[in-house]
Amino acid sequence: MRSALVFSFFALQWPAAGMTQSRSTITIGLLDFEDAQRIRCEVVSNTYEWISLEHGQQRTVATLEGIDEVVKTEQGYSIATESGEEHSAYYILQPTSGNGTIRLISEPTGYRQYSGAVHFYWHANQWHIALESDLEDYVAGVLVAEVGKGHAMALYTAHAVVSRTYALNTFGRHRLEGFDVCDQVHCQVFDGVSTVNDSIRMGCTASRSLVLTDRLGRPIPAAFHSNCGGLTRSSAAVWQEASPHLRPVQDDACAHGAHAQWEKQIIGDEWKTWQPDSAQRAAFSMQTRKRFQLPSDRYEIGPQGDTLILSGRGFGHGVGMCQEGAMARAKHGASPWDILSAYYQEIRLRSTTQLTILEARGVWGK
Ligand SMILES: [Zn+2]
Ligand SMILES: [Zn+2]
Repeated sequence: MRSALVFSFFALQWPAAGMTQSRSTITIGLLDFEDAQRIRCEVVSNTYEWISLEHGQQRTVATLEGIDEVVKTEQGYSIATESGEEHSAYYILQPTSGNGTIRLISEPTGYRQYSGAVHFYWHANQWHIALESDLEDYVAGVLVAEVGKGHAMALYTAHAVVSRTYALNTFGRHRLEGFDVCDQVHCQVFDGVSTVNDSIRMGCTASRSLVLTDRLGRPIPAAFHSNCGGLTRSSAAVWQEASPHLRPVQDDACAHGAHAQWEKQIIGDEWKTWQPDSAQRAAFSMQTRKRFQLPSDRYEIGPQGDTLILSGRGFGHGVGMCQEGAMARAKHGASPWDILSAYYQEIRLRSTTQLTILEARGVWGK
């Protein structure tokens, strides 16, 4: 019943264009494999082939048979094929047609399952591994890592819009390394698609290709965090960058969230002698949070002998959507739009087919 409502809600917002089946791709730097010397590659669905890219020329080297191994070598990679060892500064492991799913396995990382083509390349004196994926597969993987399982459908739908928007807003952030976004918390956590379940997939499908934009159709900086502690913060206060979409809002919905409250003990002398580099207020707060590993910026200090007790609320930077507030709202019947409009201001929903990604890259990419 609820998922039917979700569908009709979005259909009302975007009668035709929003439901267009667009296929956009995104390239994700797999930093998870940075420390891996050897990576085993195993086909899960479809068939894959090794392509070597040299001087702009693509050459099919071999098909991926069962499990192959790619090894980091001096200024590139090597793979073992039937005709012997091959070396290249740029390999693409891609489905022979359409989309496919592959598993990458390494000792430091364990195993990860991805949909799309994997690029192994030597660039700027470094090894890089990047996944070229359908945007929707990427968003589903992000939801697994950033939200987890067992939530109401409206949360997945709203969060899919947020994660898609965030990705497009930060698109090109890693341009110099040869990919669009990374798989770490710096962009959005992405550990592949092996544990994507039906509810997550449905949340992505219900909001397929929809993003939050300003009135000119540019994706907004859709920041999110774990728990705001009762009041979200403006981007101006936290990052010294004002945004009309990221203003403080009162939030009672997260009061019972897992990260609503915290307490931390700190040695009094350490606190008294703490001298951050910057006297500037926002930088001071950020450095203090980092130094004492405080979950949030919202706390009171109570003395207790030589030890100080910091009693705080919330978890994360506090800007944009509060995930635990959004979870509670969805559980109590809020629609995806109720959730999105509770945390972001001056927003519109648009389909990615109505955006100019180049414009998004130029204006917002950093
Ligand atoms: Zn990143
Ligand atoms: Zn909150």
